[in-house]
Amino acid sequence: MSSLRLLPANLINQIAAGEVIERPASVIKEITENALDAGATSLSITLRDAGKSFISVTDNAKGIAKNDLPLCLARHATSKIPDDDLFNISSLGFRGEALASIASIARLSLHSRTPNSEHGWCINVHGGEMTVATPSVLVKGHGTVVEVADLFYATPARLKFMKSNPSEMTANMEVIHRLALAYPHVAFKVSHHDKMILEVSAESPEERVMSILGKTFAENALPLHAQVGDMIITGFAGIPTYNHSQSNQQFFFVNDRPVKDKLLHMATKLAYQDYMPHGRHGACCLFIQLPRELVDMNVHPAKIEVRFQRSQDVRDAVIAAIKGHLGSSAPLTSTHLGEAAVASFTRPENFPLPPRQSYAPQSYAAPSRGSYAQSSAAYQRYTAPHYAQEDHPVAIIENQSTEGLLGTPKAQLFNAYIISQAEDEFYIVDQHAAAERMTYESLKKQMEHQGVSKQPLLIPEIITFPEDVRALLLEAAGELSLFGLEISSFGVSDIMVQAIPAILKETPIKGLLMDIAEDLRAEGHSSTLKDHLLAKLSTIACHGSIRFGRPLSLPEMNALLRDIEATPFSDQCNHGRPSYIKLSKASLEKLFERT
Ligand code: ADP
Ligand code: MG
Repeated sequence: MSSLRLLPANLINQIAAGEVIERPASVIKEITENALDAGATSLSITLRDAGKSFISVTDNAKGIAKNDLPLCLARHATSKIPDDDLFNISSLGFRGEALASIASIARLSLHSRTPNSEHGWCINVHGGEMTVATPSVLVKGHGTVVEVADLFYATPARLKFMKSNPSEMTANMEVIHRLALAYPHVAFKVSHHDKMILEVSAESPEERVMSILGKTFAENALPLHAQVGDMIITGFAGIPTYNHSQSNQQFFFVNDRPVKDKLLHMATKLAYQDYMPHGRHGACCLFIQLPRELVDMNVHPAKIEVRFQRSQDVRDAVIAAIKGHLGSSAPLTSTHLGEAAVASFTRPENFPLPPRQSYAPQSYAAPSRGSYAQSSAAYQRYTAPHYAQEDHPVAIIENQSTEGLLGTPKAQLFNAYIISQAEDEFYIVDQHAAAERMTYESLKKQMEHQGVSKQPLLIPEIITFPEDVRALLLEAAGELSLFGLEISSFGVSDIMVQAIPAILKETPIKGLLMDIAEDLRAEGHSSTLKDHLLAKLSTIACHGSIRFGRPLSLPEMNALLRDIEATPFSDQCNHGRPSYIKLSKASLEKLFERT
C-alpha cells in the first residue's frame, strides 16, 4: 500500500499556522486586522499572560451572519477578494487562512451579531472540532468578539519558543502600535490583566503619531508631504540629530498596511547618511500611497512584506521626500540635547535650597519654522583666511534686535562657543561645527552644479579583476563617469582606468573599484564613489573652516549665525555632532527656582 496520502484538514491548518502564527502578537495582528477590515471604528483588546493564555478582540463592525460563522473558520474562505484580483486588494486580509490556522492550534470562540439580528451567535472550535452555533449575549449592539485561549496547546513544540511575558508584550504592543498608526480614525483600547495599557480615541493622523510615538518623537520630527509621480508620501521624518542605534524608530505603511521592508529601510538610510554618524539611524513614520496594481501584497504569509513593481522609483521617491523635506526646513536641533544639557547643570553644594522637584525642564517647543534665504557665499566666508585674528575674548552688545531664529550674539566663550539670545530661549553654538557644515554644503552644491572635476591619468592604469567583478563594473561605467571615474574594458580580462575624480587622486583605485563592485553585487547600485567624494569634501570642509579656539568679533558672530539659519542641516556638523543647542529661558528660571 502506498504511504502517499492527502493530509487531514486540521494538520494542513497546523502547517499553515506554522507560518502565520508565530507568537501571541501574530494572533493579535490577524484578529485585529479582521476587525479593521470589517469596518470597526472602535476596538478593544484584552490579554492575559501576554496573550499566551488569553486574547480577545471586540469590535463594533458589521458582524457575521449566523450561517456564515462556520465558513469564517474554513481554510481559504474569505470575503475579501470579490473579483479574484490579487493585484487589487484594499483589505488587510485576503488569504482566508488566519482564523482556520488559529483554530487549529488554540481554543477559539467566535461571537458575532449583525445589525439586524436580535441577538448574537457563537461557535467554538477546540482541537479542530467545531460546535454548532448557539445564541450568544457577548456582543452588545453589533460586531464581533473573537476569543483565543491556550495558544499552541495543540502544538506544544511551539510553546517552547515563546519568550517571557515582557518580551511577548513588547512584540504585542509593536503590532498594535503599527495598526493604530495606520488607522487613526479608529479608537483602540488595550488591557493586560485588567489593567488598561493603551487607550486612544479616534483622532487625526498627526494626533495619532503623537499618541503612539510620543511627545519626544513629535517634537523632533517634521511633517512631510511629497508627491512623486503617482506616489504620495506623507508622515513625519525625524531631524538628523534625533538619531538612534537601531532602525526600530522607523515605521512604514504602504496603502495603509504596516510593512517591514528592506527597500524602505535602505532608502531611509541613504536619505539620512549624509547627516548622521555612521551606524546611526533616523526616525520616521512614512505613509506611502500608490496605485494598488503596483504593489504585490502576496509575498509573505503574514503580509508584512511587499514587493514593489517599480522598486527603484519607490526608493528614489522616499529618498527625495526625506532629503528634500529636511533640506528645506529651518535649522532644528533635537530638543533632548537641550534638556540633557540643563539636567547636567549643578549648583554649588554649599548653596542649600528647599527640596523641590527635578531641575530638568518639562518641555521645549520646537523652534518655529520660518523660511530663510539660501546663502551661497558660505564657503568663501568660512574658509580660514577670511576671519581676522582680532582678540575679542568676551564681548557683550546690548539693544541689538533679534534677527533670526538663532537670535543676537551676546558673547563668545573659550574662543569656540557663541552664546546668542532669542525671544524666550538662548543658544550655544559650536562655531567650528557650524562653519564646517556650511563649507561642506557649499562644496557639495558646487559639485552638483559644476560636476566632479576629473583628472585624466597620463598613463592609464590597467587592473585585472575576477570576471564577475569586471562585468559589474563595466555595466556601471556610464554612471561612474558622471562622478569623474572613467573606466573601459581592456583586453579580455582587464579594466583600464583613464580618469579619476581629481579630489580622490590619493585614494587607491583598485580598492575603491572593489568596494564599488561589492555594492553593485549586494544592492544593484553603488554609492561608494559618491560616499568617497562626499567624505573627501567633508574632510576638506573640516580643515578649511574656522576653527575651535578662534576669537570672533560680534559682527563676525552675527554673520555666522545668519548664515547658519540659511544653510540646510546646519544644526549639525558633517560628523553628526550637533552644531548648536537650544535652551529656554524657562529652564534657567527653573534652575534658579524662580518658577
Ligand atoms: P481573511 O482575513 O484573509 O479573509 P480570515 O481567516 O482572517 O481570512 O477571516 C475569514 C473571514 O472571516 C473574513 O474574510 C471575514 O469575512 C470574516 N471575519 C473575520 N473576522 C471578522 C470580523 N471581526 N468581523 C466581520 N467579519 C469577520
Ligand atoms: Mg484575516
